[in-house]
Amino acid sequence: MRVDDLPLAPEYVNHFESAGIEELYPPQAAAVDAGVCEGGNVVAAIPTASGKTFIAELGLLTADGPGLYICPLRALAREKYEEFDALPGVSVGISTGDYDSPAAELADHDVVVATSEKVDSAIRNGAAWVADLACVVVDEVHLLGAEGRGPTLEVTLATLRRRAPDAQIVALSATVDNPEHIAAWLDAELVESDWRPVDLRTGVYADASVAFDDDTTVAVEGIDADDPANAGDTEATAALVRDAVAAGGQALAFVRSRREAERLADRLREDGLAEAAGIGMDAAAVAEEVRDAGGTEMGERLAENAAWGVAFHHAGLRSDHRAVVERAFRERRLSVICATPTLAAGVNVPARRVVVRDQQRYTGTGTEWLPVLEVHQMCGRAGRPHLDPYGEAVLVGDADDRDELWTRYVEGEPEAVESQLRDRGALRTHTLALVATGIAGSQAGVLDALGGTFYASRTPNPDLGGVVGDVIAELIDMEMLAPDGSGIAATELGAQVSRQYVKPETGRKLVAGLRTAAAMDPDDVTALTALELVCNTPDMHDTYLGERERAAMYQYVRGHGAELTTGMNETDDFEGWLESVKTARILAEWVEGATTEELVAGYRIGPGDLESRVERAEWLLGAAEAMAAVIGVELPVLGSTREKLAPAAAEQR
Ligand code: ADP
Repeated sequence: MRVDDLPLAPEYVNHFESAGIEELYPPQAAAVDAGVCEGGNVVAAIPTASGKTFIAELGLLTADGPGLYICPLRALAREKYEEFDALPGVSVGISTGDYDSPAAELADHDVVVATSEKVDSAIRNGAAWVADLACVVVDEVHLLGAEGRGPTLEVTLATLRRRAPDAQIVALSATVDNPEHIAAWLDAELVESDWRPVDLRTGVYADASVAFDDDTTVAVEGIDADDPANAGDTEATAALVRDAVAAGGQALAFVRSRREAERLADRLREDGLAEAAGIGMDAAAVAEEVRDAGGTEMGERLAENAAWGVAFHHAGLRSDHRAVVERAFRERRLSVICATPTLAAGVNVPARRVVVRDQQRYTGTGTEWLPVLEVHQMCGRAGRPHLDPYGEAVLVGDADDRDELWTRYVEGEPEAVESQLRDRGALRTHTLALVATGIAGSQAGVLDALGGTFYASRTPNPDLGGVVGDVIAELIDMEMLAPDGSGIAATELGAQVSRQYVKPETGRKLVAGLRTAAAMDPDDVTALTALELVCNTPDMHDTYLGERERAAMYQYVRGHGAELTTGMNETDDFEGWLESVKTARILAEWVEGATTEELVAGYRIGPGDLESRVERAEWLLGAAEAMAAVIGVELPVLGSTREKLAPAAAEQR
């Protein structure tokens, strides 16, 4: 099937042909046969790099009205935005939280790209444009099964389908065990395929060689042949990376922690990887780009490695540094990225060889195997179309676990996607939102709205009545819902909690903290007060508090007790609260002008961690201001602290 056979305007055909898309890949042709160009609902469960974006574009471009593209990550949203924006005559809007078109303008675009949380938030804030949608594309729909975010995705999709019942749904999934369940839920045709544009072979390393699933065994150079068992996982990983780079390829190495990613990058650089890579001017230019993005000590270390063609990538790294690494790797100006597993779920960074050094992760109390789906997503990054004859994914093991790795990840099937909607916290949040937006006005109404979820489609008699009854009672107790005739309605507070997009528990904590702060001596109410208030909520990320820092934090809390809304003896989770105060302390210093460097060194957090906390604090302080207005509390420190956070972030100290 050819692009010029499709019902597309000539300018689109030209656009695709000039991008090298002339003949459809088999899964794309299957999606056309399934009706993607005729408004049909389609679920495509196909591997990475098999051309999902083009399937999405077919839905969006042939739809008779505006389209929405929902994706899980901001970095991905940005990538798709740029791709769609290049389509001739198509106006594209974006809503991700950090890079947004004005909300009022979203209605004027042909295509809006947004994260699922932003779509949910738009619905809660009454965005009328969702009712006009002709096509909704959901990327990475298998994330339905993710704790926390999964329920948001399924409730949002259920609501979208209620609001825009005629909209076409195009859902794109990784290869999972039960795509037919997703298709049944969305009344969609299923396109399932394991076709890839570049062959992928997967293997397990042990004792100086890799056994691949195409029945070949390849010896690995540079491992002490007399004592291969002692080489260790890092030694083997370094050798596997060197080997791929020496053959002119690029490699991704996945390890379990940030520290390990940095260590491996250092190790590869010192190993003289650059000679193998033949790195010249380009790597030096990447190092400069990293430095230009703004100096932090971590950024400098990244730049030093990048100058030798090696980078590390993890959530502790600032997002602009991560973006430089991703782009440079795609442009083949870096040879290796050493990453934590988060990179696998993210943006498009194909490599010739993927090496998964660690297949287990710490849970806090022990270790557990990574999900098969996650490891397959890492492996799926191997093989760059038009550049590599084939992709190679290698799981690093030893004689003891080689069989386990083989059975689990090479032969094993990825997990099935299961709904997480029964989670009480998720149901509380979404029940409040359904009532506050007027979608439901009674318990029966909430159950009816939840009837459109993946959970309901998978459960023969969705027995949500009891738990929804319980969360309604809790929300009434929290003064966010109130009886209304024979039904229920949101109170002003509940409506505000829903619009501000905070969890009900966050709303409750903010209200209690605001009341305490209002009763405090005004001289004691400082930026720290405002920050402790918002940091001690479940919507703020935790900040790890090491054993050695504990005593100092304890001292700090004693010294600043008068400024805090929670007393030392008033909390039933003292450790958790101490961590919140640590976050608040960091942010208070930031507001007072501390640099990223000082905070990173003083509190052992990554620049990326600081960045995400500053951003969350801005959002939560805005929410706290809205709550304060509802309960009639005046606390100017909320606004002044929020204003000081923002410019501070913009200057990238
Ligand atoms: P994914 O399935 O991972 O989202 P993409 O949609 O990003 O994959 O496609 C991967 C690459 O393949 C892109 O560079 C894209 O331009 C290219 N591509 C997609 N479809 C075709 C095609 N039919 N012919 C040639 N190249 C294609």
